[in-house]
Amino acid sequence: MKYKFCYQCGSLNRISDRKLEERTPICGKCSAEIDHLEAADHISESQVEKLIRNSDRLVVVDIYADWCGPCKVYSPIFSKVGEEEYLKAEFVKLNIDQAQSFAQKYGIRGVPATLFFKGGRLVNQLGGLINESQLSQEVQAWN
Ligand SMILES: [Zn+2]
Repeated sequence: MKYKFCYQCGSLNRISDRKLEERTPICGKCSAEIDHLEAADHISESQVEKLIRNSDRLVVVDIYADWCGPCKVYSPIFSKVGEEEYLKAEFVKLNIDQAQSFAQKYGIRGVPATLFFKGGRLVNQLGGLINESQLSQEVQAWN
């Protein structure tokens, strides 16, 4: 079972592993196709909190800012690992300027920051730009 946000209506969907393997997940609310291979973007901090509470998988959150150079370098790395490891973890991106209370709650001091949640709890946090193998190693470590 995997949780995924619908890009069209923003609702949180529960998707069975079988549907994931067939690559045909559809939003239960608006019937839009859910592209499960990309890191979810443009979702609110409360939606991310909901995902963290509900997911039984690892949730990896990239905290970024539009004004941050290293974040632009990190974004495609995060998305690539997100595609490779989509069965192992949920990958979401959160814009720090729209997630002030989330950033405060988890003590984010700089961007980019990569947060790892398991069972509703923050289990690790990596600050700054990390490379593909560091990120994927961390995903393996929590699985
Ligand atoms: Zn929808």
